[in-house]
Amino acid sequence: MPPTVSTGADVVAPIRVPLIAWLLAVVALGVVYLLLQENGLVTTGQIAAYLHEFTHDGRHALGVPCH
Ligand SMILES: [Zn+2]
Repeated sequence: MPPTVSTGADVVAPIRVPLIAWLLAVVALGVVYLLLQENGLVTTGQIAAYLHEFTHDGRHALGVPCH
């Protein structure tokens, strides 16, 4: 099989991500981090306990302090 020659068509052009997108991603990750650290921050009582148990395995997978 002869060696292939690149024509340049298979080169992937880099994607330019706007600065606002990076900032929004950082803020969103920060909000998720804060919500994960404090169970019951958004809801309280039975609903908070239900959500905690519903997402329990996911919380452990993300390394969220739980019990
Ligand atoms: Zn747990």
